[in-house]
Amino acid sequence: MAAIDMKNIVKKYGDGFPAVNDISIDVADGEFMILVGPSGCGKSTLLRMIVGLEDITSGDMMIGDKRVNDLAPRDRNLAMVFQNYALYPHLTVYENIAFPLRLAKAPDDEIDKKVRAASKTLELDEHLDRKPGNLSGGQRQRVAMGRAIVREADAFLFDEPLSNLDAKLRGQMRTEISRLQKRLGITTVYVTHDQTEAMTLGDRVAVLKRGILQQLATPRELYENP
Ligand code: ADP
Ligand code: ADP
Repeated sequence: MAAIDMKNIVKKYGDGFPAVNDISIDVADGEFMILVGPSGCGKSTLLRMIVGLEDITSGDMMIGDKRVNDLAPRDRNLAMVFQNYALYPHLTVYENIAFPLRLAKAPDDEIDKKVRAASKTLELDEHLDRKPGNLSGGQRQRVAMGRAIVREADAFLFDEPLSNLDAKLRGQMRTEISRLQKRLGITTVYVTHDQTEAMTLGDRVAVLKRGILQQLATPRELYENP
């Protein structure tokens, strides 16, 4: 069973040409799936439909064996990591990571255990008392991922998380995200318009153009048969 299974997904805004036009993509458990294509091809719309931030016009959105078309975002157990990471500047790294558990009213000892385990995995344990403003871009990204890890989300969803960074940092972050994702083995869907990112990060790459799925293949297959 796929972790995330998009079946014949259509999205129409108004009565124009569909932004997402009959797209089917199965994301395997632990797989790193890339959605790539030029601006306006529908990749953000598709990602927002997975998370539940956008209504689906037709088709079935499956998470595990559950059809989630009508489920609110908070009931889907997915973690979206945004471009600006959405960290709270006045809270420490510890409290930023703990935030979803505090919201869920988890007991302090459980929060402590989970935050420390996640920050160890992410190599943030020496920075727990710092605030986001004093962290590097890479560290901020890891705090955002830490918050997703403690929630024990079924999947990570990234919307162009590196597009605001300069080329050098972007390269470093690519390596870092790839290493972490492999280590955590968590299902990931990652939106980008950057070919290099797509070819270096993905287990498979879904190439979108004007709302249509043009190719769904491994980077090697795409390289050999562009
Ligand atoms: P991408 O993420 O690939 O840049 P989007 O998913 O943002 O593409 O957009 C796909 C198409 O849908 C574009 O033509 C865009 O203008 C249109 N679109 C996106 N969001 C809306 C919206 N809220 N209302 C109307 N049209 C939209
Ligand atoms: P992206 O960086 O994902 O391509 P856009 O700049 O296309 O995003 O869109 C930014 C926001 O504006 C999104 O929330 C999207 O829903 C909305 N949007 C995009 N295109 C349209 C549109 N044609 N009409 C209304 N809203 C739109």
